[in-house]
Amino acid sequence: MNDYSSLFDLRHRLSLSETLDELLGAPLQRERQEQGQRAYLGASIIGRPCPRAIQYSFLGTPQDPGREFTGQKLRIFHRGHEGEKWMIRWFRQAGFDLRTEKKNGEQFGFEACEGRFSGHCDGVFCAGPTVILYPALWEHKVLGAKGIAKLKKDGLKTAYPEYWAQVQIYMAYMGLEANPALFTALNADTMEIHAEQVPFDASEAQRVSDRAVTVLRACDAGVQLPRIAQNADFFVCKWCDFAQRCWAA
Ligand code: SF4
Repeated sequence: MNDYSSLFDLRHRLSLSETLDELLGAPLQRERQEQGQRAYLGASIIGRPCPRAIQYSFLGTPQDPGREFTGQKLRIFHRGHEGEKWMIRWFRQAGFDLRTEKKNGEQFGFEACEGRFSGHCDGVFCAGPTVILYPALWEHKVLGAKGIAKLKKDGLKTAYPEYWAQVQIYMAYMGLEANPALFTALNADTMEIHAEQVPFDASEAQRVSDRAVTVLRACDAGVQLPRIAQNADFFVCKWCDFAQRCWAA
């Protein structure tokens, strides 16, 4: 017989929205746990501002209490994945030859440092309308209205240096430096599309690549990388998932 007592308690303790949030979030959290920790340092995190935070992430350090992946956070990731699929469909419908996987079904990407530094890009444009040069790397994000406003005002490099670094690394390691990459962002509130071309910057790509080596070496040697700031009030630390652990050390 099913035991409904905990659900009964939930209904008295939480609103219906909160109850559903818990019920729908739990399988997503389980799924996330089952996926386990990535065995490699991902290109998607190497451009984060703080080297120590990158190291914590790479080592699979648990986030501070209250900063774990909630159902809501995981639904935001899910929205990003689904938004990417929509964009692929829309680009193809418009006549772009956008490739997103190899013949064997694997995503395009790269591996360096014996597979310990790795990443998978969203796609490569091979042909299409004459609005960009081909071939071109494609990277896509789904953002809220505030994020899109930041992009419009400052451009990718300033607004989201982490995404910009990711694009540079893919271009460098996938041999797609010749033409600017196409970065697109879908406004999740209005469905507006923001697009910008990202030229290759060899020295910055090298700097980011060197950073990956530094992180791997430090992890191998058991050395903790320096903090980005002198005190916990720094704006980056306020958003960091490891702030309590970091500043307690
Ligand atoms: S709290 Fe600040 S210094 Fe510490 S890991 Fe996070 S971002 Fe880096």
